[in-house]
This record gives sequence, C-alpha cells and structure tokens, in this order.
Amino acid sequence: MKEQIELLVKLQEKDRALDRLRQQKQKAPERLQDLEKELEAFEKVVEADKKRIQDLKKAQRQYEADIENGIAHIRKSRGRLMNIKSNKEYRALLKEIEDTERESAEKEDKVLDFLEEQEQINRELGAKEKGLLSMRDRLESEKIAIAKEVARVQKELSDIEESRKKLAQIIDPQLLKKYEQIKALRGGIAVALVINATCSECHLGIPPQMYNELQRQDTLEFCPHCERIIYWKEAEAAA
Ligand SMILES: [Zn+2]
Repeated sequence: MKEQIELLVKLQEKDRALDRLRQQKQKAPERLQDLEKELEAFEKVVEADKKRIQDLKKAQRQYEADIENGIAHIRKSRGRLMNIKSNKEYRALLKEIEDTERESAEKEDKVLDFLEEQEQINRELGAKEKGLLSMRDRLESEKIAIAKEVARVQKELSDIEESRKKLAQIIDPQLLKKYEQIKALRGGIAVALVINATCSECHLGIPPQMYNELQRQDTLEFCPHCERIIYWKEAEAAA
C-alpha cells in the first residue's frame, strides 16, 4: 500500500501541475485582450479628435463663405443706397447693412475660435498618435511573447500528460478510480498529507487510532472530515 500511495502522491503532483499550466495557458490570451481593448479605446479617442477637426474645418469654410457673401451683399447695398429717394427705405437698407456687418463680425470671431480649437487639438493629436504607435508596437511584441509562452506551456503540458499516463498505468485501477472520484468531488485534490495528526487539506484532526494505523502504512485510510485519501511521511517522525 505504501508504494501505491507514493504513486498517488506523484500523480497528484502532476495533476496539480497540469491544472496550473492549463490555467496559465488560458490566462495568457486574456492579457492580450486587455491590451487590445485599451488600444481600441485609444484609437477611438484619436478618431474623435480627427472627426472634430474635420467638423471644425467644415464649419469654418461655411462661415468664411457666409462672410464673403455678406461682404458682397454690403457692397451691393451700399451701391443701392445712392439711388434711394425714400427716407424710410434708406434707413431700412442702412439697418440691413449694419446687421450684416455685425453678423459678419460675429462669424469672424467664431472662425477664430474654430482655428484656436483646431490648433489645440492638433497639438495634442501629435502626442496621441505617437502614443498609439507605441501601443501598437507593445501589442505586437506582447503577441509574440504570449505565443512563445503558450507554446512553452503547451510543451510542458504534453510532457506532463505523457508521464502522467505512464504513471497511471502502474497504479491499481480500483485505487486510481477512487482517486479520480475524490479529485472530482474535492476541488482537484484527492490525497492529503497528515502532519502532527492533522489533515493538511482540511486542517482537522485525525483520531489517534487512525493516526496509528496510518503510520503503519499498510492500509488505505481516508480523512474522516474531508474524505480524502490520507498518508503519512517518515520524515515527520524524524523531525
Ligand atoms: Zn481532511
């Protein structure tokens, strides 16, 4: 029984390693997803900036055209002023000229605002685009690093899976079946070392009678609390 338990302990070590490696393999691409999301969000910011500049340019052109039209209109109206006989009509046209002039001045102010905002965005956009480039570089090198890591983990997984298979073949089939059942029920851990008459997995005490049996190492014992297969090590007696 002692040898069989020792084999089970080895099997469990391999199963633990396999669990850890499988998690590692699964987590690696998640890191990439985070980085991709970050990049995507930043790309949207830069796109929004560019769109805003386009909108500002469009509005600026519209206003400039309006101002040009206004100037032409004023010129024409001033020409008409000379030929107007009616006082009332004269005043009305004069007011219209003044209104157009005021609107033009307001639009000129707006155009200045648009230009200022464009300058402001452009200044920051340069730095943002640089940041975007370095983020893309980082993503690329991270992709390579993760692919390498996944390949390394996969190799390790296959090696351990292979040696686990060989190990399982020399374990008593009934015992192996029991091990697998407990493993499935107890969070992947089926075998527990007993130290100072305490189960190292559930941390509860083993009754003295059972503890004595366990130290003889010729029977299969189960923790009365967590029901895992328990074992004892000679080293504990020495220590
Ligand atoms: Zn236990």
